[in-house]
Amino acid sequence: MQNTNDVNTESNNKKVAFHTLGCRLNFSETGTISQGFVDRGYDVVEFGDQADVTFINTCTVTDGADSTCRNLIRKAHRASPEGKIVVAGCYAQMEAPIIAKMTGVDLVLGTSEKYKVFEYLEEDEIDTIHIDKSADFYGASTSSSEGHTRAFLKIQDGCNYICSFCIIPFARGRSKALSIEKAVAEAKKVLADGFKEIVLTGVNIGEYESSSGEKLADLVRELLALDGLDRLRVSSVEPNTLTDELLEVMKSSPKFMDHFHIPLQSGNDEILTGMRRKYRVEDYKRIINKVITAFPNAGIGADVICGYPGETDEQFQETFDLMKELPLTHFHVFPYSKRKNTTAAKVDNHIQHPVKKSRVNTLRMLGESKLRMFGEDQVGTKSEALFERRNKEGLWEGYTTNFVRVYVDSNEDLKNQIRTVFLDRSDEGKVIAELIN
Ligand code: SF4
Repeated sequence: MQNTNDVNTESNNKKVAFHTLGCRLNFSETGTISQGFVDRGYDVVEFGDQADVTFINTCTVTDGADSTCRNLIRKAHRASPEGKIVVAGCYAQMEAPIIAKMTGVDLVLGTSEKYKVFEYLEEDEIDTIHIDKSADFYGASTSSSEGHTRAFLKIQDGCNYICSFCIIPFARGRSKALSIEKAVAEAKKVLADGFKEIVLTGVNIGEYESSSGEKLADLVRELLALDGLDRLRVSSVEPNTLTDELLEVMKSSPKFMDHFHIPLQSGNDEILTGMRRKYRVEDYKRIINKVITAFPNAGIGADVICGYPGETDEQFQETFDLMKELPLTHFHVFPYSKRKNTTAAKVDNHIQHPVKKSRVNTLRMLGESKLRMFGEDQVGTKSEALFERRNKEGLWEGYTTNFVRVYVDSNEDLKNQIRTVFLDRSDEGKVIAELIN
């Protein structure tokens, strides 16, 4: 497996630095673009080091992501005043003129145009803004550019839903998907590079069927049959798209990991209706039940938004109670963030910032204690862990099948190794494991 983080200080090659914000899909896309630079003879250096090109792959899900992006541009310019700065992705797609005016920015590329960065950099006179609203699908698979040992394979992009709070359909357009044939070919490439685990990514993977005309269940079945693939996960699946057939296929192979991410957003039906989500609380409960019946030890992540316009204390309490009651293990809690042009931004009963903050903190604390309890519950059991890196304390870190992070003390080189481990104890929330030979 090629490590694109490797820095060759002796080399006279041009240097490129990356920073990725946002979702796994963005990380997957940065991986592909990073490999494109390496193939053209660039060395990848740390973000913030002097570089000929700095590539920032942006996100626009929250206000915070927007301002982080602007800070990163300033940092990149300070590090490489002569270097070229390329700002790409969702925030670039939405706010190109603002970004293009910032000092040091040479290229602003939308969600599909970012793959053409090499062509644009070669132009004698660079046109700064390239945004294509009729974006086609660009498949992508990642390398280890962000230090992961999992390959993120993009099979879908865009979204046909119109959740009232979400800017993504504006930034990434309508749903598009990679055919099964192409996705399998991409998967074979990353396996040939030495990856053992693939994570299927997309904006709304459940829309795969409606966009490609082929069934997601069939794609998962074909991938599970691939020689050389040890582990398969899906990054996030909308609850209304997790069909019985899909669950059956997932359950049919030990290669499919007992780990899911199923967005909830709110535990109150009125709020879910306002959000234009395609399920209600009872539907969500039923789906989680099905998952736990099929995978009794599953780790289950869920996104939730606190302080959606009009959310009362009682409605927030219902979300809290639901998340406490359900076997959810990995919480992703966000304050509602007003995004220009979305339906939710236009209503007038927005929640005060301190209220949102306090609700976020309350749910995050619940999430931390549930994650800790989940890890403690696994103590005394065995699992297979894929190891990613040795940390500063000298312990190897890896993830079990159900996404419990484990720490192992070993002199062996465990990077990218799948090993059977015994989860020995929980030390202040860290699950300490031992290798079983
Ligand atoms: S499903 Fe809803 S929240 Fe997810 S990307 Fe589509 S519109 Fe946004």
